[in-house]
Amino acid sequence: MTPIEKKTDLQCKDNLEYIGRFAPSPTGPLHFGSLVAAVASYLDAKSNNGKWLVRIEDLDPPREPSGAADLILCQLEALGMHFDGEVLYQSTRLAAYEEALAQLNGKGLCFACNCTRGKIQSTGSVYDGHCREQSIGLVNQTNNRFAIRLKTSESNISFEDKIQGMVQQNIQSACGDFVIKRKDKLFAYQLAVVVDDAYQNITHVVRGYDLLDSTPRQIYLQQKLGLPKPSYAHFPVAADRSGEKLSKQHFAASIDTNSAAEYLVLAMEFLGLDISSADKKAEPENILAWGVKHWDIQRVPKLATINGSWSV
Ligand code: GLU
Ligand code: ZN
Repeated sequence: MTPIEKKTDLQCKDNLEYIGRFAPSPTGPLHFGSLVAAVASYLDAKSNNGKWLVRIEDLDPPREPSGAADLILCQLEALGMHFDGEVLYQSTRLAAYEEALAQLNGKGLCFACNCTRGKIQSTGSVYDGHCREQSIGLVNQTNNRFAIRLKTSESNISFEDKIQGMVQQNIQSACGDFVIKRKDKLFAYQLAVVVDDAYQNITHVVRGYDLLDSTPRQIYLQQKLGLPKPSYAHFPVAADRSGEKLSKQHFAASIDTNSAAEYLVLAMEFLGLDISSADKKAEPENILAWGVKHWDIQRVPKLATINGSWSV
């Protein structure tokens, strides 16, 4: 084998070893929180010579203003964040989710549930398994509105998060049998994300801390569907000094891509990079290249802190 062939082999291997993704729900334009998710997953992928894919999680049409997905893609472009391959839209993947559901049902793991939200809350928001003996055949035979839930007995899950460290959860006591297809017939995020992370051969998931709590359910689904488990890293979500999550009113404002460089630098600072040596007036692509060079996932803080520089 000549040295050149060797190098090509190696590059392919690198790409196969790391496939990351950014998976926004198109409920609106990119805001600071989703920008941080894009930047963190991008920098981690590119600093590992990996691929960075974009998947639009458009599973919930009533919550998706028209044009939002295109707007997000345009914003990424203006931020210099070029993705690998084609965008995957979850709205095109319903047959695959149906198939996964059939596979789970074939293992006797699914049941139909027509409990009301009020009833579930009255038992403390952890689902108590009330409808466990109900067959999902019922869903097709009646007009009643049923959700489909997954049984979660013996579901102690633990995993090592690259940022948060060891995480352990008993799904049964943390949330109970969870919904994989909703009453309104939409597939639940938990099922779709697992099916698609496997479909896209995702090896590394880097996303916000608000999804840490969902990860054990996703690993449980991977186990039941015989799918590989990616590595997980959950960066802190924007929080104020008291540790409260900063939500819509603080960071929901759309990213102004006329200030792309400033936003990128802010996101990198939020993720623990020492930006003092970065050229903050450079083109977005160059700022990202600087970020790739200096990225160190070990330096991402477990908890967000906000310093004085929070305004663009
Ligand atoms: N679509 C989810 C969101 O925007 C993120 C999914 C994920 O990263 O797993 O919150
Ligand atoms: Zn029920």
